[in-house]
Amino acid sequence: MDETEKPGCPKCGALITTLKAYAREESFYRVYLDSAKFDPELDTIGYDYQQCVEGSTTHTDFICPNCGETLFSSEADTQPQEVIDFLRKANVIPEDEAVPDEEAVKE
Ligand SMILES: [Zn+2]
Repeated sequence: MDETEKPGCPKCGALITTLKAYAREESFYRVYLDSAKFDPELDTIGYDYQQCVEGSTTHTDFICPNCGETLFSSEADTQPQEVIDFLRKANVIPEDEAVPDEEAVKE
């Protein structure tokens, strides 16, 4: 098998079936006074995350969940074909051989 055809992270070689994505985008918060009550000097601004603003992404780094290296980057809100191709290739790895992604969202 050609090295470029090998599934898994090209940097560390781990068999991964997911990527982490760090996106630069605008977020919307509800802002309130987080009062210290006993000492107004210690009051702070509280932020309750509401949602990210749709269409505001300017840059995304796609990262290996095992070694933390950036494998792909994209500008704006796009669906990079190279990421789709990577994940298609990665998802042929049997689950018991893949590096577990402990941070995967379980719902
Ligand atoms: Zn890696």
